[in-house]
Amino acid sequence: MTSRKLPLLEDADINSSSVVFVRIDCNVPLNDDGTIADTFRLDAVVETLEYIRDTGAKTIITGALGRPKGKRDEKLTTHVVAQYFQDKVFNLCTYIDQCVGDEVVNLVASLSNGEAVMLENLRFFDGEESNDINFAKQLSDLATVYVNDAFGQSHRNQASIVGITEFLPSYAGKCLAKEVNALEQILSGEQSNVVAVVGGSKVSDKLGVIQALLDRCDYVLVGGGMAYTFLKSQGKSIGDSLCEDSYLDQASTWLKTDKIILPTDWVVANDINSTDTEIVSVIADDQAGFDIGPDSRELFSKYLQDAKVVLWNGPMGVFEKEQFNQGTNYIARTIADLDAYTIIGGGDSVAAIRLLDLQNEFSHVSTGGGATLEYIESGSLVGVDALEKGK
Ligand code: AMP
Repeated sequence: MTSRKLPLLEDADINSSSVVFVRIDCNVPLNDDGTIADTFRLDAVVETLEYIRDTGAKTIITGALGRPKGKRDEKLTTHVVAQYFQDKVFNLCTYIDQCVGDEVVNLVASLSNGEAVMLENLRFFDGEESNDINFAKQLSDLATVYVNDAFGQSHRNQASIVGITEFLPSYAGKCLAKEVNALEQILSGEQSNVVAVVGGSKVSDKLGVIQALLDRCDYVLVGGGMAYTFLKSQGKSIGDSLCEDSYLDQASTWLKTDKIILPTDWVVANDINSTDTEIVSVIADDQAGFDIGPDSRELFSKYLQDAKVVLWNGPMGVFEKEQFNQGTNYIARTIADLDAYTIIGGGDSVAAIRLLDLQNEFSHVSTGGGATLEYIESGSLVGVDALEKGK
């Protein structure tokens, strides 16, 4: 359950005469041969699709893939997604190279109970990204119920996310509801001992997020490239480490909250490709920090031990390189071992825990990148608001 008033799929009146339009996030990475490189986002919506299938309803699945910008691109058709769901969920999940119109209507009418249609990539059609109300209406005409299970796309004001909710009874799918519920653990203010761990390259990318976390959390542990702007604002030497000088004042203002915990030692090198590394607590002028050091890992762990809710977003260092991945790996294992509600979001941090095969050790692994950050920053998303507003 979420602490918001989201209309949930379980509350929808769906039966064997229903046609359910499900918006998913099928923006999956593809291999050169067109096969799906990573099915994480598709697997996240299987529970919703199975639930609808088992009611006997007909399912229309739809989503966007890549950035075709309103034009057809044969490399980005949703054919592979249809095949995936046919193998995994449905006896039949037929791909159609259209989104709206008579051909789609006829195909849907020909389905048996519990079968599905996968519509073409929504972004081949102009009306999607412009939230064209006529396009939204045409989509809605295909179905009797709308389900949004595309959390990672719900920050977008688009026809299949926002416009369509004007025309159909609209519900949150199970994946979307879980995502919102997880973030509400942090944002609702109802939990105590909430700790956030943030990393990644830049402060400037996460300004609103850091502010929102400072408002809600007991501590914000800052690692990764963004930590050096904070360290420099304290007058520490950071050598050639990543720094955004225009955010030094902002960093010192935030430090006054006493909630920000910074690293105290670093894995340094003369450049990012060097394997000649050193652990230091003072960074020399010709060195740059590319990971948090062992003392910092212990320090961060200490703050995490008593946490009841933990949010982690962004790696602690240049985790793509073996010589700089220990900080990220250590924090991943520490959070995985906690007896707390643990949420991980952001493409890089999720990639890091999956490399360690720790994804099942977290309470919630978010499918959203930009959407997660925007939700934390503004407390909602246009697509989530549209569901709550209802038809
Ligand atoms: P972001 O896209 O902002 O989440 O940042 C992720 C990127 O930050 C990853 O590609 C990391 O390699 C990079 N990163 C993390 N720590 C550092 C650092 N100390 N110096 C440079 N890049 C870093």
